[in-house]
Amino acid sequence: MTETHLSVKLLYNTPNPDSAAAAAARQCYSAKGASELMESLSHDEVAKLVRQVVKSGHHSVLEHASFTFAAEGLSRACTHQLVRHRIASFSQQSQRYVKAKDFDFIMPASIKAKGKEREFADFMAASAALYSSLCDSGVDKEDARFVLPNACETKIVITMNGRELLHFFEARTCARAQWEIRSLAEEMMRLSKERAPIMFENAGPSCVSKGVCLEGKMSCGRWKNIPGCILKGD
Ligand SMILES: Cc1cc2nc3c(=O)[nH]c(=O)nc-3n(C[C@H](O)[C@H](O)[C@H](O)COP(=O)(O)OP(=O)(O)OC[C@H]3O[C@@H](n4cnc5c(N)ncnc54)[C@H](O)[C@@H]3O)c2cc1C
Repeated sequence: MTETHLSVKLLYNTPNPDSAAAAAARQCYSAKGASELMESLSHDEVAKLVRQVVKSGHHSVLEHASFTFAAEGLSRACTHQLVRHRIASFSQQSQRYVKAKDFDFIMPASIKAKGKEREFADFMAASAALYSSLCDSGVDKEDARFVLPNACETKIVITMNGRELLHFFEARTCARAQWEIRSLAEEMMRLSKERAPIMFENAGPSCVSKGVCLEGKMSCGRWKNIPGCILKGD
């Protein structure tokens, strides 16, 4: 059993995601087809179109660009939050079919900061021992897993389109999001920006993407350092 850490890879994405979204947007108002537009739009035209659709909220065209990530070294506590995002596709390692003997685990920094590292690791070991004993006594994995902790490491493939990614980044890169899903979202955002730098150029929490913080008195205060940003909420 070992402590493990988050790893995120962008497995694949729609080729030229910015151009794909721009061609789809332009086709709505053009006699030309998206295929021809995809070939003929200049970089500047693509940039102008994508910026327009992001700003205007005409986000359906961003749904034509899809991104698939492989995330490992994250906890079940994190994926429980992640899979609440319904406009996404997920394939997660099954605890019914994959035996979790000697599972890896995620240890929050706060546990270490409080000097509780040893107790935490001991609890993981005790959980793994009980799990193995249940499996060895003939209990099905699907029932033995009830004694596994939220810290148990999992692996998940995530597919989101550009529109859902922008929404996901708003919710989960915000300082109010829990630290582990925030780390996941920040890494997915960094990788997405490499492939679609225009679509995601203003991606981030709503203070960054929309110039408004909705957290009211729970706000982290970052909005104050963003020119023109306003605070809303109770
Ligand atoms: C800081 C934070 C704290 C949270 N705390 C809690 C908590 O205490 N308890 C809890 O249960 N959850 C909590 N959540 C989860 C949250 O309530 C959402 O379930 C989660 O963020 C998914 O968001 P979503 O529904 O907007 O996104 P998605 O499911 O990704 O959907 C994207 C968008 O599609 C549209 N959409 C999707 N499905 C429907 C539908 N059926 N009908 C109409 N429109 C739809 C909506 O516009 C939605 O915003 C928290 C989330 C955050 C970020």
